[in-house]
Amino acid sequence: MKIMESVELRGCSIDELIEICQEIGLKRFRATQLFQWAQQKAVRTWDQMKTVGEGDRQTLSSHLHLYPLERIREQRSQDGTRKYLFRLNDGETIECVLMDYARTISRDRHTVCVSTQVGCAVGCAFCATGLEGFRRNLSVAEIVGQVLDITHYVRQEDPDFQVTNIVFMGMGEPLLNYDQVLKGIQLLNHGQGQAIGMRRMTISTCGVVPKIIQLAKDNPQVGLAVSLHAAQDEVRNDLIPMNRRYPLAQLMEACQEYSQITHRRITFEVALTSKNARRGEAEALARLLKGQLGHVNLIPVNPVEGTGMERPDIEQIKRFAQVLENAGIPVSSREERGGDIDAACGQLRRKWEGEL
Ligand code: SF4
Repeated sequence: MKIMESVELRGCSIDELIEICQEIGLKRFRATQLFQWAQQKAVRTWDQMKTVGEGDRQTLSSHLHLYPLERIREQRSQDGTRKYLFRLNDGETIECVLMDYARTISRDRHTVCVSTQVGCAVGCAFCATGLEGFRRNLSVAEIVGQVLDITHYVRQEDPDFQVTNIVFMGMGEPLLNYDQVLKGIQLLNHGQGQAIGMRRMTISTCGVVPKIIQLAKDNPQVGLAVSLHAAQDEVRNDLIPMNRRYPLAQLMEACQEYSQITHRRITFEVALTSKNARRGEAEALARLLKGQLGHVNLIPVNPVEGTGMERPDIEQIKRFAQVLENAGIPVSSREERGGDIDAACGQLRRKWEGEL
C-alpha cells in the first residue's frame, strides 16, 4: 500500500497496517497492536496506545490519521435509546443511534444504527435526511468510527459495555456506498476488533437492484432488510423516488435471486403512515410477497415536520398485520424507539442545523 495523505487508521485492516508498518520501517507486530487499540479498545488518541513506544507513535501519527468523531449532541430517551450527533473531520455532521440500552429491556443486546452517507440522494418522502439532499459518502473509518465512539462514550459510564448488533439504517443508502460499507462490516466483524458476528449485522436498502445482486454474490452473511413501504408502483413512486428507476417487479426479482443464492430470509420493512396503512395496500403486499423467503416488519412512522406524514393508530396497524397473517406471511411490528428524542433519521441533525 502506497501511503497517502488520506489513510485513516480506523479504516485499515491488519494486512494494510502490516504493509504500512513495513514501509515506514516499523516491526510487523505493531500492526496487530495498532488494530487492537483502534478497533477493540476504541481509543481516540495516539497517547492512549500504551504498548506502542513514543517514538513509534510519533512516526505512525505522521503517516496515519486518527480522527475520532466529535460528539456535539447526545439525547437520551426514556426508553433507553441514545441518539448522537457527531461532527466529522471536515465539519459535516451525522446521526447515530444506540438502541436497546435500557437495562430493563435487555442487558445483553446493544444495537447501533449506523449512518453510511452524509445526507442522502434517494429522497424518501417520509425521511428528514432525504429532505437535505446528498453531501458525500462516509469513509470506512467514519462508518466504523460511529460504533467505536459510541463504545468509547458509553464505557465512561459502563466499562463493560459492548456493541452486539449493527443495523446500517441511519442516514444514507448503504448500497450506494457499497465498498466502504462492506469493508466496515469486515473490520467490525474481525476477532481482534469488536468481533460483532456477521449475522448480527443488517444492511437496509430502499432497493438498489444491481447492488442487491452483488451483495448476494459477495454473500457476507449479514442480514438484508428491504424498505418496501408500498406494494404498488404508483404508491411507492411517491414514497421512494428510486422506485421509478428500479420498479417493484425488478426489485422482487432481485430479492428472489438473493434468497436463492444465499438461502437467507429478507426482512421487508413497511413504514406505516396514515396514508398507506389501508386494507388494499395490505392485500397488495400479500400478493407481492407470495412465495418470497422473508418476513414483514411493520414500522409506524415517527411524524417528521415538513413531510406531512401522520402516524396511523394502533387499530389500523393491527388490521394491516392481520391481512398479512391471513395470507400466511410472517409479520412483526417494530416497537417505536426514542419517540421523545427526534429519533427519525435526520431529525436531530436538521434541528441542530436550524439552530445555527
Ligand atoms: S429513508 Fe434512507 S434511503 Fe430514504 S431518503 Fe432517508 S436515508 Fe435516504
